[in-house]
Amino acid sequence: MSETPASVSSAKPAWQRTHTCGQLRGTDADSSVILNGWVASRRDLGGIYFLDLRDRYGITQIVVEEELAGTVQVGPEFVLAVHGKVRSRGENVNTDRPTGEIEVVATEIEILSSSPTPPIEVIEDLDTAVETRLQWRFLDLRRPPLQRNLMHRAKFTNAMRRAFDARDFVEVETPLLTKATPEGARDYLVPSRVHPGSFYALPQSPQLFKQILMVSGYDRYYQVARCFRDEDLRADRQPDFTQLDMEMSFVNEEDVYGTWEEILVETFKDSMGLDIQTPFPRMTYNEAMERFGSDKPDVRFGLELQDAADWAATCSFGVFTNCIEGGGRVKGIVVPDGASMSRKEITALEDVAKEYGALGLAWWKAGADGGAGPLGRFCKAGEDAGEAPAVSLMATVGASDGDLCLFVAADEATVHKSLGALRVHLGRKLGLIEDSVTDFRFTWVTEFPMFERDEENDRWVSQHHPFTAPADESFSGDLGKMPSRSYDLVLNGWELGSGSVRIHRQEVQEKIFELLAITPEEQQSKFGFLLKALEYGAPPHAGFAIGLDRLVALTLGLDNIRDVIAFPKTTKAADLFCGAPAAVDPAQLVDVHMELAASAKTPVAEDPSADSPVETPA
Ligand code: ASP
Repeated sequence: MSETPASVSSAKPAWQRTHTCGQLRGTDADSSVILNGWVASRRDLGGIYFLDLRDRYGITQIVVEEELAGTVQVGPEFVLAVHGKVRSRGENVNTDRPTGEIEVVATEIEILSSSPTPPIEVIEDLDTAVETRLQWRFLDLRRPPLQRNLMHRAKFTNAMRRAFDARDFVEVETPLLTKATPEGARDYLVPSRVHPGSFYALPQSPQLFKQILMVSGYDRYYQVARCFRDEDLRADRQPDFTQLDMEMSFVNEEDVYGTWEEILVETFKDSMGLDIQTPFPRMTYNEAMERFGSDKPDVRFGLELQDAADWAATCSFGVFTNCIEGGGRVKGIVVPDGASMSRKEITALEDVAKEYGALGLAWWKAGADGGAGPLGRFCKAGEDAGEAPAVSLMATVGASDGDLCLFVAADEATVHKSLGALRVHLGRKLGLIEDSVTDFRFTWVTEFPMFERDEENDRWVSQHHPFTAPADESFSGDLGKMPSRSYDLVLNGWELGSGSVRIHRQEVQEKIFELLAITPEEQQSKFGFLLKALEYGAPPHAGFAIGLDRLVALTLGLDNIRDVIAFPKTTKAADLFCGAPAAVDPAQLVDVHMELAASAKTPVAEDPSADSPVETPA
């Protein structure tokens, strides 16, 4: 048994660590230490062996010399207490790790716990199917990259909390067992045992409660809030996720923008040492759609959409003229020097546009002489002495000789959707987007439309939620174009969060419900508690919520939020590690007055682990 180091109190069991596996340096040479950790690797070297001992702080090399090597057998992921002496590695420093100046020569090894050979390797870069990683999540979480991610998340979230605290925001918890909240997704329902036939809904957000806290005079609220939305999942969505949710009283949009800009500057500085540029640029929803074809514009590169209507209306290409006559739009993207692209490359671009609804992509290699490509023949100079169509098309869309122009002619929504997606695709393909963890370009997108059409049910629904204030209370003109006082924060092409100035006067709220065809009975049954609160002195208020999982993932350069969540679900909403969702004991169903429908008794054989590939933002 090695001597007990002076720093270890005699009350401590002899195996407890004196240092972490990331702590020892050259200056510790010759001291006696005890390290605790997992066996990350073992290298045998004729009679002696080396171990890498790992904990969340780092890795230390352990030397097990001949005398001990014969008596202790350890395998990967065994948990050890290594007693030993720190030895300098002299010139032979391992510069890859902070502990590389030293190694610990073991005098005694205690096996605190053993392990069978792990089914996934606990290593930095693991090339294993996501499903396997999720099934063995406790081993996956032991891997250094996931440990770094979760520790970064904690640091980032705490920095954000401090920033809110410093500005007099009060953290208030709101209920998880509650009533449906209107964020537009399906609710997760929880049956009540005490109230037969009644259900709680898990909150899609704390929206109604935070508004009520304003009515109750809390003035500035925030919460690290869990939210639950039962919707078809994508790479950037989880059924339960976290928002940094906030609300403020006696404010307008400027106060919300200013507060969030300060909070984010402080959070990035505090947790990452990074300077974020403010004020964040702003653009209205209409401008974002016109210029970028998206309400989450990635402003890190150009390739903005060009309106070709002036040329299209009078050209000799029937598809274009008909489209404009029929109220459609003709817009394009100009790829500088893109004329060198092959036919095959252009066909691949057309496939992207088609995937997003375009019927085709009319392309043109710009040239004052008429250029080339399918549009070429409509660009040749005619008999008359007027300006050559090629020259006027180049002027209309801002193209030069040798550029590639890609046009879509369709209804406005399709034009924007397809060209918006094509633009992002081109940005990546042409290397215009540099994925970096230092270039954070935030943009406020403002004045989203109040309503959008739910064609299936032939009614208007709120674009944000029904408590969003309209920009104009006269309610005149086209409902589909009526601007609201809502806003999104976009980061590098990702929607980070949304918010709005709220309605605080009951008559305006009633008018909105009326436009949304929500009957007075429905208003009372769904939102009666909010309506009552609005009657009793509601201050003007506004708020915002940011998707914390996504923000943290972006600060780490990850495009999937799964790697910043300890126990995430698959895109089929399954937790492969604990096996949720799962059947329950029939007695539990009786308790909550429920019976399974016949279709649920024989579950469809489906692989809950099936996961779709990672999506990139469009
Ligand atoms: N509750 C909204 C959401 O989750 C955010 C807000 O309006 O503050 O999108």
